[in-house]
Amino acid sequence: MGAVPKGLRAPSEVFIHTEIYRARPEVNAVLHMHPPTVVLFTITNLPILPLYGAYDPQSLGIVLNDLANFDRSLLINTPELGREFSAAIGRKRACLMRGHGITTAADSIEEASLVALGVNELATMNYQARLLGTPREISEDDRIALAPAVKRLSAGGQPGEPSESVATEWRYYCRLTGERRD
Ligand SMILES: [Zn+2]
Repeated sequence: MGAVPKGLRAPSEVFIHTEIYRARPEVNAVLHMHPPTVVLFTITNLPILPLYGAYDPQSLGIVLNDLANFDRSLLINTPELGREFSAAIGRKRACLMRGHGITTAADSIEEASLVALGVNELATMNYQARLLGTPREISEDDRIALAPAVKRLSAGGQPGEPSESVATEWRYYCRLTGERRD
């Protein structure tokens, strides 16, 4: 490995990334962030409930099938803690980290980003629903009916490259930021 350029250093929590990559060859992107609304749910121990369906089937799918929990609040700044965290996320694409943040792991940077945006959206809706009244989970029948739409996001694509459905959704977010990628 070459010398680290002056003024640059690896983040202290680099072990979140290295240990997930080591454990999961199918993962080409690991994102870690500290979104306040999601962290509020880890602090209060309130569940992020499946409150909506067609509004955003992808984030519904994440909360139903793809969301792990890591109950410790410290910095993941050693290989040992990285392995402990990697075991907690397991084969899932997203993990809540108590009093800390979230990590997502997926096939491409775009997919890992969409997973993070989905967790944040569902947490935000849960938060606002609790301010407004009593949140109601969607029915079991509707969860089953939405399953095909939930699966679509990760289908297809070369390893490390976004699938068609991921690329389409990603373009939408790029446009929101003013960046065009036609
Ligand atoms: Zn962190």
